[in-house]
Amino acid sequence: MKMRLCSILLCVAGLSFAGQTKTYKYDNMTIIAMQDRENFMPNKIFHGAPVDEITAAVPEGKSPASINAFVVKTETKKEEEKEGGKKEIKIVKHTFLIDTGMSTEALFKNLRDAGIKPEDIDVILITHMHADHIGGLLKDGKAAFPKATLHVARDEYFYWRQANPNIKQIMFAYLKQFEPFQYGENLPIERAKQTENEKNISIMRNKPAARIIEMVDDAFQGRDASGHTPGHTVFECNKMIVFGDLVHSAALQFADPNICAQFDMDTKKAVQSRRKFFDRAAETKKLVLGAHLPFPGIGYVLKDEGDHYSFEPIDPNQEQIIDRTK
Ligand SMILES: [Zn+2]
Repeated sequence: MKMRLCSILLCVAGLSFAGQTKTYKYDNMTIIAMQDRENFMPNKIFHGAPVDEITAAVPEGKSPASINAFVVKTETKKEEEKEGGKKEIKIVKHTFLIDTGMSTEALFKNLRDAGIKPEDIDVILITHMHADHIGGLLKDGKAAFPKATLHVARDEYFYWRQANPNIKQIMFAYLKQFEPFQYGENLPIERAKQTENEKNISIMRNKPAARIIEMVDDAFQGRDASGHTPGHTVFECNKMIVFGDLVHSAALQFADPNICAQFDMDTKKAVQSRRKFFDRAAETKKLVLGAHLPFPGIGYVLKDEGDHYSFEPIDPNQEQIIDRTK
């Protein structure tokens, strides 16, 4: 495992933090793409296809990539039943931070540039616990986001708690803010709908929480995309799918989803997850956000002939992203 983490760091070594952000409107949401840094994925880290195929697809010897984190701001009208059966409309706002990049240095600069204060973040969603996704969680040993609930898939958290002692430091800093989730739950978890007992069982004992299956407008659901790591998660809402590390090379892996980066811990499962969510993204026409897709890391997946897919990035300079799900 140490080897793999080192490899990730080696891939980004020598490329200093340049940081940039792009803000887009999409349906009733605002998406802010934040680049921690640009990087390149060398051909030698990919396997699962003949070397000739890889070289032909990327003759330069390395694929353009990036380390991206995202902020998604939602604003939803909700009908609430008051005492006596009276109904009231209220506006629910969330500011989601999805992954945190390598460090708070980059993340905080990007957030500042985008006009977001750390206290504005109320929900953090972590696709998996590799260093390039959780590096911005701590500032001076403390929780960098004091008002946020931190959500990590249970399988991911329990694996890394054993495998990486640094994880304990993060969880200790977020102690009261940490809520591991089961795949399929709406995030943020609507604790109001759980009894106190359910709440305790679900947090303390690794038991399934009460499932809320219906997808709602102001929440993401964590989906099983394991393979890259044991609890790797894709986050899906009604309008978008956040890929995490399903793809490390857009140039190689859409055309041939069998190709894995050496960081994929269980290659068979990683390929299955990649195919599953490529299909889902292509069928639903939902917008896709990727942690290592070239900046801004946003676009659509298209199903091509045979067993192939392609990625259509958005025009990075547009302000309004077209909603293709309508
Ligand atoms: Zn990654």
